[in-house]
Amino acid sequence: MIDRLSRAVFHTLAGSHTLKRVASRYGMRRPRSFARRFIAGETIDEAIAAARAIEAAGMTQTLDYLGESVGSIASADQATRAYLSLIERIANAGIGRNLSLKLTQLGLTIDRATCVDNLRRILDAATVHEFFVRIDMENSPFTEVTLDVFETIWQQAYRNAGVVLQSYLPRSASDAERMNALGARVRLVKGAYKEPKPVAYQDKRQVDAAFVEIMRVLLAGGNYPAIATHDPAMIAATRAFAAARNIGPDRFEFQMLYGVRRDLQAALTREGFRMRVYVPFGREWFPYFMRRLGERPANVGFVIRSLARER
Ligand SMILES: Cc1cc2nc3c(=O)[nH]c(=O)nc-3n(C[C@H](O)[C@H](O)[C@H](O)COP(=O)(O)OP(=O)(O)OC[C@H]3O[C@@H](n4cnc5c(N)ncnc54)[C@H](O)[C@@H]3O)c2cc1C
Repeated sequence: MIDRLSRAVFHTLAGSHTLKRVASRYGMRRPRSFARRFIAGETIDEAIAAARAIEAAGMTQTLDYLGESVGSIASADQATRAYLSLIERIANAGIGRNLSLKLTQLGLTIDRATCVDNLRRILDAATVHEFFVRIDMENSPFTEVTLDVFETIWQQAYRNAGVVLQSYLPRSASDAERMNALGARVRLVKGAYKEPKPVAYQDKRQVDAAFVEIMRVLLAGGNYPAIATHDPAMIAATRAFAAARNIGPDRFEFQMLYGVRRDLQAALTREGFRMRVYVPFGREWFPYFMRRLGERPANVGFVIRSLARER
């Protein structure tokens, strides 16, 4: 209940222009400003520095140039060019080659064909430099179209891309089978958006039970799935299933978000599990940041403390 309520509150606040203005002014301006807990920085250099630190600690990373729901073809083109230059910069920096992006950032809400073209431009450059590109999953109006676009590029023989499935959507169990049948790489998450009742489970127990069920489907029949969660119960269930089925730690990876449960990231790495950290960066960090607050209202405390220091 609190879970649902807090998501609804933060979803509403995320639409506030005033809050966005205040947050953008204070959130990143000093090394200890509040948004830096979850966002690696506003520039590529800061993201690369964060990625290097993660790799030095024995983990891998995926970089996300933040942005979503762009309002014009020009903005979608700008985001696409940003990804293209990011690919060059990462290749030159010599860090792991893995990106995450959102289709609404590439123009999905404006024109699907333009979005697919933009995605292809990125995947072509990614292929040349041997990158893997994860297409993040957004809110439910985009579920089917995201999977459709993914299947389109898959049919066009792009194999350096993967998708995300959210366990709060009852449909994801069959989508997991659909992706396994293709041989596609799936990242499994619980789901970060505020979704209406007919579309998504509202009860955490149902979301968790579905997560475990889909995790098993992906581990048993999928292609190198990513189990993306900070929930110790989900991690324990994954470990138990992998052990029971003799699925070695090289056949899947855990993923966690930058700044969340760093202790658990380190502990699993020490135990020999693969751990990839999702590293968001860029100036458009406000909606991403608000989703992180909505997941754990206790995070608001550190924002307030940090703002008090700023003033
Ligand atoms: C690598 C990665 C990629 C993701 N990609 C997507 C995507 O494409 N689409 C999408 O909808 N969602 C995505 N998510 C977010 C996901 O859907 C969840 O909202 C988020 O991971 C929280 O769920 P949880 O599994 O950690 O479990 P929860 O039950 O929410 O949390 C379990 C525990 O984890 C810790 N925790 C969780 N979140 C936070 C936080 N923000 N701050 C501090 N502690 C926290 C707390 O200790 C909490 O008790 C992604 C998550 C990860 C890790």
